Amino acid sequence: MSNLSTSGEAEECRALPAEPAALEALPDRTVRLGAIEVHRVLPVRGRRLIGPWCFFDRFGPITFGGEKPMDVAPHPHIGLQTVTWLLAGEVVHNDSLGSECLVRPGQLSLMTAGRGIAHTEETPRDNSGKLDGVQLWVALPEYSRAIAPEYQCTKEQPVVECPGGRVAAILGEFAGASSAGRQFSPGVGAEIAVDAGARVCRELRPGFEYGVLLATGDATVLGAPVALNTLYYLGTGRHEIVISSAGGARLILVGGAPFGETILMWWNFVARTAEEITAARNSWEDCGAAGEIFGKVPRYRGPRLAAPAFLGRPIRG
Ligand code: MN
Repeated sequence: MSNLSTSGEAEECRALPAEPAALEALPDRTVRLGAIEVHRVLPVRGRRLIGPWCFFDRFGPITFGGEKPMDVAPHPHIGLQTVTWLLAGEVVHNDSLGSECLVRPGQLSLMTAGRGIAHTEETPRDNSGKLDGVQLWVALPEYSRAIAPEYQCTKEQPVVECPGGRVAAILGEFAGASSAGRQFSPGVGAEIAVDAGARVCRELRPGFEYGVLLATGDATVLGAPVALNTLYYLGTGRHEIVISSAGGARLILVGGAPFGETILMWWNFVARTAEEITAARNSWEDCGAAGEIFGKVPRYRGPRLAAPAFLGRPIRG
């Protein structure tokens, strides 16, 4: 379905600006998560949210032998959705609802924490020896943040061919690809693949703000070369994104209507007040006592993660 001529592709794009559009490179940092090093590109200094997206970790690509590079022990979440999206490899999700899913590239692993859930993410024993992907969090708006937790593991998400490449929906709708993932506020997440020597041009919604990260390969976005594993903030008011690649590329796009609510983020919690964070932390530390809201992850072998001390300094976004 990508048999449009070069002139056909050109018709899809508006005139490119004479100057490369200003892209704001957000300052990422490297964080050690067990055996793997991740690039944390959101939240960062100067930017806490892009639409409802409040957290963006880029892990891999790595190859490994007999080890288990991903082994995140039971830990709690409130007030957010976690999105795990793989470019290569496998991850097993387990949670306190009893859900279990072997997540592969192209599948969406979406956990809606609501008022509270605990989960684990691990490299399975039978694996390809590869790990490459992203973990994203979506802040839940006020009306939905205390809902009962739920988990969705989809089959392969829709992929739509377009001139120069293809788009896979992660969350929401982009370029004609619609995700099966449940959403609570206007937003979008997508993987965009650009073929070698090609250009992909897709419509954006001017009311959304966007960020884009080059995960593999090389690319220019709106005429400006972009670095690997850096999140570029595109702001609002744009009508299209144009991505070119010499050798081929895969990029992750996140966006949405500016969130409009001030959130507090601390550890694995998205809340509104320090009291809520304290209550969630204490409930987790009560560890199975009456009234503990998170529950156990039945299939995980090993101790759970202990909450750090809450010093009353959450990230305000
Ligand atoms: Mn988690």
